[in-house]
Amino acid sequence: MSSKKAHQELLKKYAEAVVKVGLNIREGQRLIITYSVSRGVSFHAAPFVREVAKAAYAAGARYVDVIWGDEEMLRLRAENAPRDSFTEYPSWQINGIMNMIENGDALLSIACINPDLLNGLDTEFIGGMQKVHLQNYSPISMAVSRNAINWCVVASSHPEWAQKIFPELTPAKAEEKLWDAIFETTRSTQPDPVAAWQEHIQNLKKRSKYLQDKNYSALQYKAPGTDLTLGLPRGHKWISAQALAENGVVFTANMPTEETFTLPDRHRAEGVVAATFPLSYGGSLIEDFSLTFENGRIVKVHAKKNEAILQKLVDTDEGSSRLGEVALVPASSPIAKRGHLFYSTLFDENASCHIAIGRAYRFTLIGGEELTEEEFVSAGGNTSLNHVDFMIGSPQMDIDGIKEDGTREPVMRQGEWAFDT
Ligand code: ZN
Ligand code: ZN
Repeated sequence: MSSKKAHQELLKKYAEAVVKVGLNIREGQRLIITYSVSRGVSFHAAPFVREVAKAAYAAGARYVDVIWGDEEMLRLRAENAPRDSFTEYPSWQINGIMNMIENGDALLSIACINPDLLNGLDTEFIGGMQKVHLQNYSPISMAVSRNAINWCVVASSHPEWAQKIFPELTPAKAEEKLWDAIFETTRSTQPDPVAAWQEHIQNLKKRSKYLQDKNYSALQYKAPGTDLTLGLPRGHKWISAQALAENGVVFTANMPTEETFTLPDRHRAEGVVAATFPLSYGGSLIEDFSLTFENGRIVKVHAKKNEAILQKLVDTDEGSSRLGEVALVPASSPIAKRGHLFYSTLFDENASCHIAIGRAYRFTLIGGEELTEEEFVSAGGNTSLNHVDFMIGSPQMDIDGIKEDGTREPVMRQGEWAFDT
């Protein structure tokens, strides 16, 4: 096979896995494909988008639509638009997507972006634009965070993104290498990707069952620059890979996914945590940073690069100064094994233990979907416009599980699981 033909074959297998395992499209469902409204899906993803559409129709989809976007438009807006115009927002896109969510349709988000797109531009304007985006986007993020429908986030290669990861390669080689990484970590290179995914999902489920049965009251993290104790609220639920949506579809929200996660108690975080990977947020890269917690609240941030953007993120709203997710990933995960950063949360969060600033997923608390906002918050759940994962794991990290009576057990040692299932 020519390499072009081989690439097309893999793209097809990848698209099928996304449709069958990620979204698990049902007969007669409609599908909307986008990437975070106001951005849309990059044209660079077009060959992949078309394969997804073919696979979706083959699986019985009734209608597939895409919201395309041109990221250069975003950059030139940040450069040229009037400084007081950051409140402008394409609310018609929100209405369109909400219409599909209310109809029980499926939602696919394709990350295909230049992580440095907005680097060096007016941080006030970009911060304002990001906040307006989060406010307008909140009906969708709320629907997604309670799994109203089957949804999935995946990636497609992008020239500048690939060049950022592999600066030593030619642009064409870099893009090819990023595609290799995407295909391998999403199991698209396996003879039967769908079967490989079913097996992987079963293995992850065993980890979450073990942690669920333990029902720890807190986790303590120790690593260079990190000594953090996170409370886990009563009724916390460990989740991995699959979820059941309100529309009755069992789906896998992220491809790749290697994490086992739950929610921390928004009031119980003490100590300091050092990030082990840079964080790509709203088009900027925050590097070498740490956060200090008291009573669950971030009381101090420090970053060698883009500290102001990090501070803005934490100041977005009350919930952005607290945590909403705690996720465990062994340091030997297939994504970590690739030995490089992806500058994309979708991949980097699956290379490392991570926690998230902001909103907790309702489904990580037993019965959480049925609670009012006040009830969810008083049970320890966090609410916020943001949900931003950042990486804290490393081969130097030890994690203890602490039971309600104070006894401790090893959960991870030197970045690896400390228990068998
Ligand atoms: Zn996560
Ligand atoms: Zn997350």
